Amino acid sequence: MRGLIMNQPLLISSLISHADWVSGDREIITRSVEGPIHRYNYRDAHARSRRLANALKKLGVKLGDRIATLAWNTYRHFECYYAISGIGAITHTLNPRLAPDQLTYIINHAENAYIFVDADLLPLIELVAHQIPSIKGIVVMTDRLNIPDSKVVNLLCYEDLIEDNSDDLEWPIFDENTASSLCYTSGTTGNPKGALFSHRSTIIHAYASALPDVLQLSEKEVVLPVVPMFHVNAWGIPYGATMTGAKLVFPGPKLDGASIHQLLVDESVTFAAGVPTVWLGLLNYWKDNNTNVPTLKRTICGGTAVPQSMIESFQEDFGIELRHAWGMTEMSPLGTVSVIKPSHINSDKATRYRIQIKQGRPVFGVEMKIVDDQYNELPHDGKAYGELMVRGPWITSGYYKVENSEAHDHDGWFATGDVCTIDPEGYIEITDRTKDVIKSGGEWISSIDLENQAMGHPDVMHAAVIGVHHPKWDERPLLIVVPAKDKVPILEDINDYLSNKVAKWWLPDDMIVAESLPIGATGKVLKTKLREMYGNHILPTAK
Ligand code: AMP
Repeated sequence: MRGLIMNQPLLISSLISHADWVSGDREIITRSVEGPIHRYNYRDAHARSRRLANALKKLGVKLGDRIATLAWNTYRHFECYYAISGIGAITHTLNPRLAPDQLTYIINHAENAYIFVDADLLPLIELVAHQIPSIKGIVVMTDRLNIPDSKVVNLLCYEDLIEDNSDDLEWPIFDENTASSLCYTSGTTGNPKGALFSHRSTIIHAYASALPDVLQLSEKEVVLPVVPMFHVNAWGIPYGATMTGAKLVFPGPKLDGASIHQLLVDESVTFAAGVPTVWLGLLNYWKDNNTNVPTLKRTICGGTAVPQSMIESFQEDFGIELRHAWGMTEMSPLGTVSVIKPSHINSDKATRYRIQIKQGRPVFGVEMKIVDDQYNELPHDGKAYGELMVRGPWITSGYYKVENSEAHDHDGWFATGDVCTIDPEGYIEITDRTKDVIKSGGEWISSIDLENQAMGHPDVMHAAVIGVHHPKWDERPLLIVVPAKDKVPILEDINDYLSNKVAKWWLPDDMIVAESLPIGATGKVLKTKLREMYGNHILPTAK
């Protein structure tokens, strides 16, 4: 017997219609690309999104067309999200930190019809304009006054499109499984692959993201996504915040510690989201300037493992809860969030931090298991580690225009490429990417664990560990560190410090001091680049 419930499609347009209706005066603030702070509200955003949707229809954009954006977190980018997906086209976010040939590949693979681009990013399009034949026009996201001179043909002005069109539009109704947005994975090896989200998956992910033990979104919150809207849709915040009517604060192109701090203070932000490198900049700014942000209660941090020293600094020095989260582009991206269970609230600090550095428990909707090389399921005892497999209503079932996904098994589980343990309470702890784990004498050493611990040493600001060849052990760890200000790290000191934190046989065989670590387009340390740079390093223990 089927339930007698309406089969109302879950559509992205309903988020902005709802916010207009019940939270219309809640503000959306942007540090604009042009410079000044722009202020308006959900009602205005909805009206302008409808104008833009009418403009897109006039340009001939139809259901299923892929419309690219190359833009920072701003109110105009937010309008694109709703206008494009709202009419059944696909919002395809491009990452401006990609190399020109990667951008060209992605634009051509997606066969984008139009590109919406921030004025300061137009030079990137100029570089590739002659190689992207599917493009019918480039919309510069500014007003007529601020459009830069450019040789690109078919240049359109965003504010002209808004002005020339009315907001008279009923959002169309279509199947909730229609594709809504497209996001290519960072693709550290091979070509980037497209994760294609649907209206249904986006809405269910938004519901889940708003839960108290996930992002805890509500109309009371003031949310600043530092994580870019081109990095898995800013982790879904533009949808979840809209669902709840939270005040949104967009940082535009300025992501340095001082600029973020100013916005946090001026707008009384309560919750912010970003990768560890961003928070490192902010923590340094606060410490150097002896300041803080009294309204900020929570940050969510993920994309790469968060070192314990950072969680502690947020909590102890500034009274801010850092929620460590894990996810992937293929997962829209939320997978797990680390929040302390009631049974641990009164535990000692060391126990709580031990839990908080784990990547957390699965968000309802995400199923997880770990498997060995033969795909045998492993126990959830916090000790056995294997590849993490996931399944759920916002996890990709395949890649865009790829016939057979090798990442999915016949039961539909998706192989994440991450190695982890799962403890009896459901907390996962990522030990590595399958390709980064260091294989020493047949045993595995977790590069993530070593890096995290090394970053707790006062002489170290940033650390990465790679495996390099060893004649006896196959691979041994090489530590690469960026020193803390005015410090000269010494391997013996660091190994002394590490020796009661990790197994003795894990201690790095050698160390390289570097000025900086190579950071990829989504803020992660590029292990591939480090292997290119230092992979042939001869270890003293190998001579
Ligand atoms: P992306 O699709 O670019 O967001 O990258 C997803 C990958 O980032 C995951 O498969 C993990 O390897 C890594 N990752 C994301 N969050 C974390 C985290 N909290 N700790 C460790 N690795 C993470």
